[in-house]
Amino acid sequence: MNVLHIIALYNRIKSGEGKDMVPRTFIFGAKAAPAYKMAKLIIKLINSVADVVNDDPDVGDRLKVVFLENYSVSLAQRIIPAADVSEQISTAGMEASGTGCMKLSMNGALTIGTLDGANVEILEEVGAENMFIFGLKTDEVLALRASGYRPRDVYDRCRELRQVLDMISGGVFYPEQPDLFAPLVNSLLDDGDYYMVMADYESYARSQEELALTYRDQEKWSRLAILNVAKMGKFSSDRTIRQYADEIWNVKPVDPTAKQPGK
Ligand SMILES: *Cc1c(COP(=O)(O)O)cnc(C)c1O
Repeated sequence: MNVLHIIALYNRIKSGEGKDMVPRTFIFGAKAAPAYKMAKLIIKLINSVADVVNDDPDVGDRLKVVFLENYSVSLAQRIIPAADVSEQISTAGMEASGTGCMKLSMNGALTIGTLDGANVEILEEVGAENMFIFGLKTDEVLALRASGYRPRDVYDRCRELRQVLDMISGGVFYPEQPDLFAPLVNSLLDDGDYYMVMADYESYARSQEELALTYRDQEKWSRLAILNVAKMGKFSSDRTIRQYADEIWNVKPVDPTAKQPGK
């Protein structure tokens, strides 16, 4: 969904609509299991979009896409404190967002996210007014699936998204092999879009607009960033480990200075 929106921003710039857009650099830190073909293909798409966008003179420095190789704790330590925005956009109910979202929020990044996984815990502490929450909620995801979800309705309705998908399936981002990304587009349009990317897209794009608008008000942005840091104290590792020890491991703290038995 993130890369679909990046392509949409690219199209706005190309069509002249993006003249005073807030410049954005999208940084991806991610890995895919070796056999997870779709995830590998998504990574390939992000890199291919980066190649097109980053080298386009019409774009200048308004839009950049970076996919970090071999995402690791060493990279995370450098990126997370520097990030302005934390994208935690997994489908509600998939419990995909775990701790990365917390690291970002407690370091002052503002979250754009669904009500999934640990985003919900962050929301309880930080408050909806200090985040950008969008998309279907878990019960709505289930209800929509049960009632016969038709992703093609979104394709027919949303011109911006239709243009993006047509570009991907038309081979714009990988002319050497124009049908390379066909499985991605098929999974969205013809294979039921299990993760409901199409269903959440318009809400996500609106939330991104609101986020960019907020960024223009630097005083407000700073206030929200500081409030995120201030309200995230609950997720300190000290508190977390103490709670694990009490509730799950059932162990008592020891006094490290006390004499050990038999020593
Ligand atoms: C925090 C972290 C993760 C786990 O992120 P989740 O959001 O909990 O899935 C994975 N890799 C690195 C390098 C991390 O720092």
